[in-house]
Formats: sequence, structure tokens, C-alpha cells
Amino acid sequence: MRRRTFLKNATVAALTSALARTWVTGTGRAAEAERIAFGGIQIECSTYSNIRARMEDFRVERGQELADDPFFRHLKTYPYPFHPTLLAAAVPGGPVERKTYDALKAEFLQRVTDLLPLDGVYLPMHGAMFVEGMQDADGDWIESTRRVVGKDCLMTASFDLHGSLSRRIIDSLDMLSAFRTAPHIDREQTAQRACDMLVRCLDHKIRPTMVWAPIPVLMPGERSSTVYEPAKHLWGQLPGLNAAPGVLDASLLVGYVWADEPRATASAVMTGTDPELLKKDALGQGLGQKNQSREVANWHSNTGTRAKSLNLECPRARLRSASKKLSA
Ligand SMILES: [Zn+2]
Repeated sequence: MRRRTFLKNATVAALTSALARTWVTGTGRAAEAERIAFGGIQIECSTYSNIRARMEDFRVERGQELADDPFFRHLKTYPYPFHPTLLAAAVPGGPVERKTYDALKAEFLQRVTDLLPLDGVYLPMHGAMFVEGMQDADGDWIESTRRVVGKDCLMTASFDLHGSLSRRIIDSLDMLSAFRTAPHIDREQTAQRACDMLVRCLDHKIRPTMVWAPIPVLMPGERSSTVYEPAKHLWGQLPGLNAAPGVLDASLLVGYVWADEPRATASAVMTGTDPELLKKDALGQGLGQKNQSREVANWHSNTGTRAKSLNLECPRARLRSASKKLSA
């Protein structure tokens, strides 16, 4: 599905000034006019593990239980009702068992179908799910949701910054936001950013554009704490980028390193209404993260060919070799 870029009833100038204003509950449209569904699936899966994540490993919240989850209390502050579907969440593990995924997805899609017609969908995802016998499971979930709700429904999502994106994910969504802290202390703020965007766009009849710059680097979470430099200033620049007119969200994802699949890579994603500005910012962020990765790699570990990394040029290997000799 291709990106759909259009402004229904607003000129770019009107849109920019509308976005610059804080939206006020109850303005513009009747409170019951828009119908929004929310739910999704959250897990990060190491593809190197033999352990399978099964149904009993997920905490599944449905219907009213999901609506009452304190994490989603901000949804009750919007002028439009957010209807709960299903949220399945598990701690990090191995690949998800295929029949577990299929059952959760089928129930989720049925619940979404029962709510049609919908004007908006919010998907609280993680972005590093791997399912037995499937590539890009997050893409499968999100694309399947798009098929059910149709092309005119606006879809937003929130991701962990250790999530990996893909063409399917970007083409299926209209907007997204990712955590800006590691360790993650901004989960609720991220969910709120993702939903604020959706409500603003519904309120002003806007369909935003996303610019995605995949960055050909991968860093483990242990090397990308936003508490320390160089990640601190890279992620620290996002609120400033986000504040520019024509920008709805600025996100930078490290990607998920413990997954051997093609989409595993870092990403810069800009959402908004000014494609040229979004492109410039996305490329700038991408370059920053690529350079940061080089810096981190040079500081802490040997890089190069496999042979070079494994031979005695590696100080650690030399150390191991010396201690072997001592104990021999
Ligand atoms: Zn994470």
C-alpha cells in the first residue's frame, strides 16, 4: 500500500497554524463523531533462542479490562472515545509460537472488525516481535489491521526505541512515535504523543506524511543508553526537531540487535506535513546515529573482518590466550 498524502479540507498554511496551537477538548467537532480503536501486541524476541513464547507467557487484556488499565488513562482525556480491543504483552523471550500468534491476531482483528466503521486506530506495539516461520511479524500485524479498517482510517502506533521498522510498517501507518529514553522512562509520554497526533489529525482533517530513513547500523541496548553520551545528545535533540512547524513527531530507533531478520536496523522517522523538512531532519538524524555507532564501536570493541576480530590482534583474545598459558 502506497503512502497517501492529502489534505482534505485544510490548506498547508491553515494546517501549520492549527498544529502550532494546542488543541482544546471539545473544539471543532462533535465529541462522538470519531471512532477510535486501540490495542496491539508487545514482545521482543531473540531469534537465537530455542525457547518459544506461548499463550501462557502473554498477559492479555481485553475489552473493559484494557480500557481500565491505568497506563491508558490518558485516552479518557481526549474528545473522542478510544474503544478497547485486545492488548497482548510479554516480557522479552524467544520467537512467538505460530499458533499463539495466529490466535491473538485473529481475536484482535475480530474485535477491530466488530468496531467498524473506525476513523482512527492506535496500536501500542514494541517492534521487535519474531514469529515462527514468519518475517516482519509486526508488519504482518499492522498491515492486517490496515486491511480491516480501510485506507481512509488514520492509524498511529507507538514503539520501543529497540524496535525495527520495515516498508510494510511505514506504508501501513500514518504516523508513529518511539520512546526517547533508554532505560525507558517515557513510555506513557510516548503513548500520549502517538495519540495526540491522531486526535489532532482527526480534529483538523489532516493525513500526515511520514519520512523513514533506515540506518544501516545495529547497536545493542547496552551501548545506547540515552543517559550517557553520545546517545544523550542524539535523542535529546528530538523535542527540538518536534517543535518545528510542519512536524508532528520526530523519532529515532536503535533497532533490535538480537534478531536475525532483514528489517533489523536503526531508523529515523519524521511525521508531519512538510515533506522537505521531514526529509532533511530524518537524514540528519540518520547520519548522526551512524556516526555515533562508529564512535561507540571504536571506543569499546574491535571491528573489522571476522578473522581479524577473532585473532590475537584483539586484546581480549590475547588476554585469554595468556591466561590459558598461565593455567597450563
Ligand atoms: Zn527497549
